[in-house]
Amino acid sequence: MTRPSGGPAGGALAEAPPADSGPSEADWTAAVAVVRALPPGGRVLLICHVNPDGDALGSMLGFALGLRQLGVRRMQATFPGPPEVPEPFRALPGLELLVPATEADRDPDLVICFDAASESRLGELVDRLETAGAALVLDHHASNTRFGRVNLVDPHAAATSVVAEELLARLGVTLDAAIAECLYVALSTDTGSFRFEATTPAVHRMAARLLETGIRPGDISRRIFDTRPYGAVRLFGEVLGRARLEPAAAAGHGLVWTYATQDDLARHDQRPYVLEALIDSVRCTAEADVSCVVKQTTAGDWAVSMRSKGAVDVSLVAVALGGGGHRFAAGFTGSGTVDDVVDRIRGQLDGALTGAGRH
Ligand code: 5GP
Ligand code: MN
Repeated sequence: MTRPSGGPAGGALAEAPPADSGPSEADWTAAVAVVRALPPGGRVLLICHVNPDGDALGSMLGFALGLRQLGVRRMQATFPGPPEVPEPFRALPGLELLVPATEADRDPDLVICFDAASESRLGELVDRLETAGAALVLDHHASNTRFGRVNLVDPHAAATSVVAEELLARLGVTLDAAIAECLYVALSTDTGSFRFEATTPAVHRMAARLLETGIRPGDISRRIFDTRPYGAVRLFGEVLGRARLEPAAAAGHGLVWTYATQDDLARHDQRPYVLEALIDSVRCTAEADVSCVVKQTTAGDWAVSMRSKGAVDVSLVAVALGGGGHRFAAGFTGSGTVDDVVDRIRGQLDGALTGAGRH
């Protein structure tokens, strides 16, 4: 494989530890073969996880545009649940490929899943893993259950888009600005604008390759991170105003949490996805290692976002409560009252201490 910037094949691989550091050469070869085996006129269905974020949508659409460059014509991109794309992602190239889950091909020749750690994240689309001619999984969650027939899972990759870029390169796709914009949105979302620990030299080299296509990082970042409706600004004010700090939680490492109800959204005339950015304001709290936002999805159901600064492995908390994620960022869905949900989190914190942290 050649890359514009040279260097060893796959920067991400070069920096990852040698042991269980992601896909083997055999996995890459199998993935390339699965794509190349598509018959002429073959149908591809690309699926990303429910409530898609920048990495889910960006890696899926970037990969789709790469397949188009290879001559694949019959393609659909989709995700489970309501077919609503969060406003910050409505300018992504390739969005014209999106169809509602209800219209997704029932028996495509190939299904490719992006950024989903387990089948449960595919909702009503999960049956396609069986009905499709072949099933390929691209992901970077350590908790990935390898539910595809071919799995490219690299827990050391900062984003699923890192895996997507590597596979595109191995397929002979040349990065263009449209593909690069999708992959850049994905990479900058999952690295928190290149601030998180996962921001390795390989991540910056990938960002450089993407920027070399001429995409405009200022415009993209403003759109995906720094733009929200006035109603959302006021909603954030209210929800942040009711944040609670529990300094003694997690063996003294501290917990900060808040919640937002459907009524909060309705009063400010806001859509649920605006709440995705809330955790970034809550996790600023210096006195807490763990931060949570509990978001009401239906009358008795909540989607929980958790973040850690390192003293607690929040993926352990999330998995114990039926969800998943990464060490520093994880989530789950739960039912009951807000207090029930926060109680369940408190109950898992001590068992998820990493031994690292400030104390
Ligand atoms: P966020 O808080 O941004 O929604 O999600 C943070 C991380 O937790 C992401 O990596 C996401 O995949 C994971 N995550 C969030 N909610 C859930 C969930 O309900 N189930 C699982 N398995 N993972 C989740
Ligand atoms: Mn991701």
